[in-house]
Amino acid sequence: MAVHSLRGFRDLLPPDSERFAAIEAAAREVFALYGYRELRIPTIEMKELFVKSTGETTDIVEKEMYSFTDGGGREVAVRPEGTPGVVRAYIEQNLSQSGRNAKFYYIGNMFRAERPQAGRFREFEQIGAEHIGNASPFADAETITMLLKLLEKAGLPDCTVDLNSLGCAECRRNYRQTLLAYLRGCQARLCEPCRGRIERNPLRALDCKIDGPWLAGTAPKLALCPDCAAHFARVQELLKLSGIGFRVNPGLVRGLDYYTRTVFEVRSSALGSQDAVCGGGRYDDLVKSMGGPSAPAIGWALGVDRLAMLLKDRAAPGGDPAVFVIAAAKDAADRAFRLLADARAAGIAADFSDFGLSLKSQMRSADKSGASFALLIGEDELKAGTVTLKPLKEKGDQFSVPFPDAPSTLSKLLNS
Ligand code: ATP
Ligand code: MG
Repeated sequence: MAVHSLRGFRDLLPPDSERFAAIEAAAREVFALYGYRELRIPTIEMKELFVKSTGETTDIVEKEMYSFTDGGGREVAVRPEGTPGVVRAYIEQNLSQSGRNAKFYYIGNMFRAERPQAGRFREFEQIGAEHIGNASPFADAETITMLLKLLEKAGLPDCTVDLNSLGCAECRRNYRQTLLAYLRGCQARLCEPCRGRIERNPLRALDCKIDGPWLAGTAPKLALCPDCAAHFARVQELLKLSGIGFRVNPGLVRGLDYYTRTVFEVRSSALGSQDAVCGGGRYDDLVKSMGGPSAPAIGWALGVDRLAMLLKDRAAPGGDPAVFVIAAAKDAADRAFRLLADARAAGIAADFSDFGLSLKSQMRSADKSGASFALLIGEDELKAGTVTLKPLKEKGDQFSVPFPDAPSTLSKLLNS
């Protein structure tokens, strides 16, 4: 049997790989504008980190985590999401003591053993942002504004945000009881997994793909304490001030345990059932509960695979060479090789196939390459000390220029 890739794991070929890179580049640009700096966290962490932070009763930890015992007998897990690692680093590296804003972004692959389907993979990429140590509604508004700027910059304008508040631990404690009583009363209607976990985590039922939709209409709603209500109102005010389109969706609860107060999601109907592009929210108690200082925080994670799917119809950022060099005679190869180097030194993307092949075969490669010009060096050019430029994309006759002038002539032509 031939070796093949695992289910849910995939090769990203050009131009898809280039689409990913363009999204990452747009993200880096926007992060820099907002004062976010990159954090590179490990791919593998202690399993306990995710159990404690993501939450024991979440889908991620309960069913989707790749965890194993390593050679040293340690229980480890391949990261299913980025926030726990960032929080661990913040605590372990004493980042609260640095005197600087703790605004971090990460770009990396995450791993979840889910059923693979369109827009759902077992290895996928997330771009995430975390702002730790700021409780104010300005931080909420800033991070959501930044997210939309990023999506716009990446090529996805006009997104709307679903927004909700889950309140603080206090609001949740009261709500938990009310909701649990309600769910106990309609146990028969709940799906099997929800029935099994309502006692441990009643809120999860609201995020369930099966029960969530009907519960959204019927279940009692969370009532915010005055502080949480004021915070939520202020976030909405600031978003309006920033010209951000959003709608308050009381059914939005998100699947992770650590969220408090503001939660949000960006969806696109163009994605079908896997419609969430990005999700995030506040996690005011997580850092402390993980053994760190009291540090309220907010963050989000964007699914790059899904965003790339949404941008599929747009022209991929070019990975094509601008010129393709051809040696049309045996002893022209060294000269042609030199031309490649000169073109590249002038900042012109240049490629070639195999100088030993026939002129016809090299021309075929040039046509396929997507280059704008073929540069030919044959017997005549060698004698005259010239290069022949043949337009490949636009109509026009071929013409010759002195060898040393080729790069500057091409630069002018390519930029015009
Ligand atoms: P979903 O409800 O679609 O399972 P989620 O709530 O599990 O999403 P988060 O943990 O919030 O997702 O991750 C943020 C983003 O990462 C999602 O909005 C999505 O774009 C992307 N994402 C999550 N899981 C996958 C996956 N298995 N394959 C591809 N992208 C994913
Ligand atoms: Mg999920």
